[in-house]
Amino acid sequence: MNEPAAISTELLLRYDQPGPRYTSYPTAPVWTEDFGEREWREALARANRRSAAPFSLYVHIPFCRSMCFYCGCNVVVTQREEKAREYVDVMLKEVALLAEALPDRRTLKQHHWGGGTPTYLPPEEIVRLYRGIEARFPPAGDAEISIEVDPRVTTFDHLEALHHLGFRRISMGVQDFTPKVQQAIHRVQSRELTKSLVDEARRVGFTSVNVDLVYGLPHQEPETFGETIETILDWKIDRIACYSYAHVPWLKKHQRALPEEALPGREEKFALLALALETFGRAGYEMIGFDHFARAEDDLAWAAREGKLHRNFMGYSTRMEAGREGEDMLMLGVTSIGEVAGAFGQNPKERRDWAGAISEGRLPVHRGHRRNAEDEERRRIILDIMCDYRVEFANFEAEGRPPFRERYAKALRSLEPLVEDGLLELGDEALVVTPKGRVFLRNICMPFDAYLEKQRAEGRPMFSRTV
Ligand code: SF4
Repeated sequence: MNEPAAISTELLLRYDQPGPRYTSYPTAPVWTEDFGEREWREALARANRRSAAPFSLYVHIPFCRSMCFYCGCNVVVTQREEKAREYVDVMLKEVALLAEALPDRRTLKQHHWGGGTPTYLPPEEIVRLYRGIEARFPPAGDAEISIEVDPRVTTFDHLEALHHLGFRRISMGVQDFTPKVQQAIHRVQSRELTKSLVDEARRVGFTSVNVDLVYGLPHQEPETFGETIETILDWKIDRIACYSYAHVPWLKKHQRALPEEALPGREEKFALLALALETFGRAGYEMIGFDHFARAEDDLAWAAREGKLHRNFMGYSTRMEAGREGEDMLMLGVTSIGEVAGAFGQNPKERRDWAGAISEGRLPVHRGHRRNAEDEERRRIILDIMCDYRVEFANFEAEGRPPFRERYAKALRSLEPLVEDGLLELGDEALVVTPKGRVFLRNICMPFDAYLEKQRAEGRPMFSRTV
């Protein structure tokens, strides 16, 4: 289904441009600080009226033992474990505040921990935090409970504790096993160490073991990156996320420590992507969206085949409900993002702001956005492209309104070059992304984004690229 051979470097180069990742619509740069705690509480009150609807929960642990030079996250590098204990104390108070604001018990269907490094916390702190959350938000029996870990700080005791709590899906950061690349990115992590954790995770009972790779790092070459991919394939990893490295040293100062002269050029970078597409496709992995691959029997691959994919701040997930509504996601922790009843909210980046609000009994949301009717429609179009690879025009047509093709004539016109390049088909009734077009989903979404032109006109920088 990937048609990897048909995606040439020339095509990748042609469509590589700055553009959002569309983990939300409208995207985070559109949100403002006019939206705060009051608006978030209103959104939670609206959500309360849908008490039967399932929801997901994201828990953010920002700590790391050392800084990887390519990192794009907001992390706190510290060796002082008491900082993490204090963080858990505050988060437990945040859990209580959130539970009070959402009194109608709804079904927790997806519970995810990310960071930073969640396994920076020692096992007993993980248990304390999880039990505190569980007491207020008990997961459904079939809930998906997942965590991201750094193999360098994760012990077998962590894996035992996590499995005992109910975690069944685990994602490990790998990026590239080549020693020269690892030294340049300040992340030395052997195959042996990683393999021992993969084996132990499976032994204790994790049902899905996933790996993250990154392409575009210093010293990466197709031959050695190919060896990393082959290792991952040998281990029969269930899902692989293969992210493009975004070099933004003016924004992430630690990236200045990378040897810039060793970064692959655009053509070399795309050769790495083309290699990943080709190798995973040949090994029978299904391409999910534009940067995930899953074994055919994995839940995500199944969801993609059944038209039940969803996309939010955690990337791709399985849809909890039939429609595009009701995908509420609550959040805990600094810098976390949530989505509730048509609104996005984000906690502050600074721990003192986050903890200060909580100590005063306030939900710490400090910015966000409430979607209007036009946002809702465009969000649905973008989700349909990102998740279903097609937009049925009839789904957006209502009596008394001009037809879809008329309302979105400008967007559809700007997609004509992509039609000529075989990336999508535009019929009278639907827009359909071809297998070759999957890599370019973000380019296909962009003409439907009503805020992009304004962002460009204001000279607002966009840091990720579309390929
Ligand atoms: S472990 Fe992950 S979150 Fe922490 S610095 Fe490295 S890449 Fe960033």
